Amino acid sequence: MKIVVCVKQVPDTKGGVKFNPDGTLDRGAMLTIMNPDDKAGLEAALRLKDQYGAEVTVLTMGLPKAEDVLREAMAMGADNGILVTDRVLGGADTWATSTTLAGAIRNLEYDLIITGRQAIDGDTAQVGPQISEHLGIPVISYAQDIKVEGDSVIVERQYEDRYHVVKAKMPCLVTALAELNEPRYMTPGGIFDSLEKEITVWGRANLVDVDDSDLGLAGSPTKIAKASDKVRKGTGEKVTLDSEEAVSYLMNKLTEKHVI
Ligand SMILES: Cc1cc2nc3c(=O)[nH]c(=O)nc-3n(C[C@H](O)[C@H](O)[C@H](O)COP(=O)(O)OP(=O)(O)OC[C@H]3O[C@@H](n4cnc5c(N)ncnc54)[C@H](O)[C@@H]3O)c2cc1C
Repeated sequence: MKIVVCVKQVPDTKGGVKFNPDGTLDRGAMLTIMNPDDKAGLEAALRLKDQYGAEVTVLTMGLPKAEDVLREAMAMGADNGILVTDRVLGGADTWATSTTLAGAIRNLEYDLIITGRQAIDGDTAQVGPQISEHLGIPVISYAQDIKVEGDSVIVERQYEDRYHVVKAKMPCLVTALAELNEPRYMTPGGIFDSLEKEITVWGRANLVDVDDSDLGLAGSPTKIAKASDKVRKGTGEKVTLDSEEAVSYLMNKLTEKHVI
């Protein structure tokens, strides 16, 4: 079985979010991690590998430093890492990102593609289902459990108060939830092995069946019209009054502000 796992390098928001003066994220100044849903997706793939003997390839699109996330995945047990990086891909929205990832995946043999449900920075949850659409394969989203039976994948698909068991023939794409499992740690041996492994680096020229007009900023139909911080609430006013005074104080304030 061949499994492709899409992993995204995202800013570690626990270390504090840093902004550029124009309000965009200062990604260079922030620590980065593997997106949590993707890490669970990778762990699911590695468990299938342990059980059935699969080949696991991790794929990311990003800046050259996104190689770190591939090394981490390989230190956990992934067999191959592919970095898609090219200036023309910069500024991609979800459409351009999924077009790029699908263009890269068309070079590969795969039975199962696993993506995270959503990235903690973009938060759209669109990229996984869009990749399946580009490749013309079924998608099962919100996986809280993934099993393989013959040529089918069986997934527990999470809802707010229940789950459905959904079965699809492979090739199929599954989007994983962080709650799916407890990802394994990298081992010292795995870290050394990953440093010796080659990472495949692809650019625009390696993408199959994609049009330039669907790539990068120019190929992104989503445009950010305006970015601003949330309006902060005032600190409020603290007063100490007995109950009768408090009622008349509140009535005066509400009248003053034309609420009543
Ligand atoms: C006009 C515009 C410009 C933008 N410019 C930039 C920019 O310059 N730099 C930037 O980082 N972001 C930029 N973004 C944000 C970018 O659109 C999203 O980060 C990206 O499209 C993925 O969407 P998402 O994070 O919502 O992913 P989701 O749909 O929430 O992700 C779902 C899953 O898809 C997979 N996935 C998503 N992205 C990748 C990836 N790159 N590689 C591998 N797997 C992936 C992961 O498995 C992930 O869990 C821009 C957005 C817009 C609208």
